[in-house]
Parts: sequence; C-alpha cells; structure tokens
Amino acid sequence: MNEIKWHGAENLPAKSYTCGYCRKVVGPDQGFSEEPKPAEDYTGHWIYICSFCRQPTYFDSVQQTPGAPFGSDVASLPNDVQELYQEARRCMTVSAFTGAVLLCRKILMNVAVSKGAVEGEPFIKYIEYLDAKGYVPPDGKKWVDHIRKKGNEATHEIKRMWQHDGEKLITFTEMLLRFVYEFPAKIL
Ligand SMILES: [Zn+2]
Repeated sequence: MNEIKWHGAENLPAKSYTCGYCRKVVGPDQGFSEEPKPAEDYTGHWIYICSFCRQPTYFDSVQQTPGAPFGSDVASLPNDVQELYQEARRCMTVSAFTGAVLLCRKILMNVAVSKGAVEGEPFIKYIEYLDAKGYVPPDGKKWVDHIRKKGNEATHEIKRMWQHDGEKLITFTEMLLRFVYEFPAKIL
C-alpha cells in the first residue's frame, strides 16, 4: 500500500488508540483539529493520522470513528463460526449492539451444530446441548444463561441492546470459542 501523504497535517498532542483500519495500537501526533483549537485533554473534534497505516480516524468527546473491533482474534475456528464472530466484533465499531447480541446467539447455535447438535431446534436446546456435552466450563452456566436471556430479549421483545450488552456477550463468546476450538487445537 502506498503511504498517504496528507496535505496540511499539523502537530497534535500524541494520542494512543487502537486503529480501526490496521488494528494496531498506535500513538500518532499528526492530524487535523478544529478552530479554535480544542483543549489538550482530547475534548473537541480531532482527526488523527495513524502512525502505522496513515489512515484517518475521527474523534469527538465520546467516540472513535471507525472504532476498533471489540474483543480479540480466536484461532482454529470453523469458517462459518469465524465469519460470524468477526461480524459480531465489527458490529461494535458502528454501535450496532443489537446486531452483535443476535450474532453471538447465532454463534452459539453454530457451535452446538458443529459439535453434533441437531439443526432446527429451539435456541434453548443448543444451550442445553453444549452444557450436557461438557463444552461449558463448570462455572460458565450463568454466562450461557445470560446470553440466552439477552438473545431472547433482542429477538422477541424488540428491545434495543446497549454497548455493555454487546461487550459482555462478545467477551463470553470469545472465551467459549477459545475453550471449544483454540485450546484443543493447540495440543493436537
Ligand atoms: Zn492504522
């Protein structure tokens, strides 16, 4: 990729963030700011140029756009599960929290089917299946119940989900995917 040479970029207070383009933690001190200049505590409106990939990221006092995908990569996933998991993480970058919750629910169904559960069952059956087959850690049942409850709320009650709902479910899903796929693959 050719390095972008931005015209008129200025020196700014260095800012640390995870770049939504290259996903690296960077600390650029180049970019653009509004007039009059905002205070140096990062209130106001700023565009920072990534020090690694040179792509621009916009900040206001509450949000980074584009945001970084929430959660971490998990290795050794089946393709369909990997795609759904990455999609759920990307939902968080555009504040699509209900979408993230629904995707996590779908991921759990996919995990259960990939481990031998019958397709077309009610969602609760997949949770019970994963638990019965020992894929849920001993103290993880409460987490699975939480996901089931959140998934049901998002699906049946047309109730919007919030950032903390999406973050919780992706955190749990990441843990479960590591436990079910990544760790076993490491000792083969
Ligand atoms: Zn970058």
